[in-house]
Amino acid sequence: MPEGDTIHKIKNFLAPRLSGQVIDDMLFADAAAARRCIGRRVRDVSARGKHLFIELDHGYAIRSHLGMLGSWHRYAPGGDWQRPRKQLSLSLSTADWEYVCFNAKEVELVRVPSVRERILHGRLGPDLIGDETEPDYLARRARDILDEDALLIDALLDQRVASGIGNVYKSEIMFIEKRSPETRLAAIDDAALGRCFELAADLLRRNLGGGRRITRFENDAASKLWVYGRSELPCLRCDTRISSRRMGRHHRGTYWCPACQSPPNSN
Ligand SMILES: [Zn+2]
Repeated sequence: MPEGDTIHKIKNFLAPRLSGQVIDDMLFADAAAARRCIGRRVRDVSARGKHLFIELDHGYAIRSHLGMLGSWHRYAPGGDWQRPRKQLSLSLSTADWEYVCFNAKEVELVRVPSVRERILHGRLGPDLIGDETEPDYLARRARDILDEDALLIDALLDQRVASGIGNVYKSEIMFIEKRSPETRLAAIDDAALGRCFELAADLLRRNLGGGRRITRFENDAASKLWVYGRSELPCLRCDTRISSRRMGRHHRGTYWCPACQSPPNSN
């Protein structure tokens, strides 16, 4: 069973052989991730706990966790594998060798935080009310701190990215920006991601005066919030019933309109 020490042995084998090599080809179930890696150079191979990181020169790393059954093999190009193809998790071809990972528990492409982000890691992000922060910077920060498969709602609540957004604003921002609560960072571009934080800063500042929290500034008697706390009530834009469910890393109550905020794959 691969434990931390096994991973270090694999790291000690792979690091001097892979470092500096260009990935000529990559077989991986996530074809988009594979395309991102082909042609990139390996910067470093490192082990942390039971995880092996193959860091590339474009700010991404291939993270593998071997679980109970995983292994890494090295073959000459075109050589016969010792395991069936269906057990393939990932293969990396360089000029001289093919490195093949079989039966891994997890393999994924992750963002490598920059040195600056590592220094700031664990601290609070810029304050959305007090600090003047460029939306672009907050978008980059969200991607540096969180994986691309993280939910946007978790990025909004993550105080390491930016501090100030609470659970009420989270649902309201998602509604105003017409984003499904299932939206992941990978499915939103930097401009749109930055806009969410810009909107958050605007809402937070407009609510500094005290009194009831307002995200809906219509001059009528209806709710001052679009969706939060309005489960089963009609959407104030389209009359569809508002949905709610506990979601995200911390299972926080999340409210949305299924019509106004359609899922990412139907856009
Ligand atoms: Zn609606």
